[in-house]
Amino acid sequence: MKQRPRLILATRNAHKTEEIRAMIGDRYEVMDATAFPHLPEIEETGTTFLENARLKAEGISRLVEDVVLSDDSGLEVDALAGAPGVWSSSYGGEEGNHAKNNQRLMHEMLDQPLRTARFRCTMVLAKAGRELAHFSGTVEGRLANSLSGTGGFGYDPLFIPDGYEQTFAELGAEVKNTLSHRARALGQVMDYLFKQP
Ligand code: IMP
Repeated sequence: MKQRPRLILATRNAHKTEEIRAMIGDRYEVMDATAFPHLPEIEETGTTFLENARLKAEGISRLVEDVVLSDDSGLEVDALAGAPGVWSSSYGGEEGNHAKNNQRLMHEMLDQPLRTARFRCTMVLAKAGRELAHFSGTVEGRLANSLSGTGGFGYDPLFIPDGYEQTFAELGAEVKNTLSHRARALGQVMDYLFKQP
């Protein structure tokens, strides 16, 4: 059998890896940073999704041989002037604590009638420390008043995508992976990779 090309994800977030792997299917051998114990944690010191996605993709691609794909993503809430945005993963005060992030968001949005929001995902492809290309995807929606559903991760139990009445966490992976910010960015990544000689 012909060996599949490898794509290294510059993340240790198992949820992101799972979604990206499911969307890519078997065209690529998808591995993430957990498969390379020597890789450092890349500090996300940027103030935009693109800056952080570049830091991760370029940083990791200096240390592995294959093409690297990074994902920097977050939730932008209109009533909060775009917050939590690039600080989505630590909004509740503790990096990666989704329960605390959701608690804070519900608190900030208490009695707030304007509930529109979007998820944004920026992806960077890099090789040997240099960016090859970058892509971005968004999904518009609104925030529920309380948590619903058990699927997905992060703010999924609070986010209702446009055209639906249930949260991403209720809709489940199959629906989320057809319309999410990550699916839309990844579609462009795949188009780019397939056009390469
Ligand atoms: P990053 O790892 O710095 O890109 O931060 C991503 C953070 O944004 C996550 O920890 C979540 O809080 C939020 N986030 C990004 N994508 C999603 C998603 O698909 N569903 C729910 N929350 C998400």
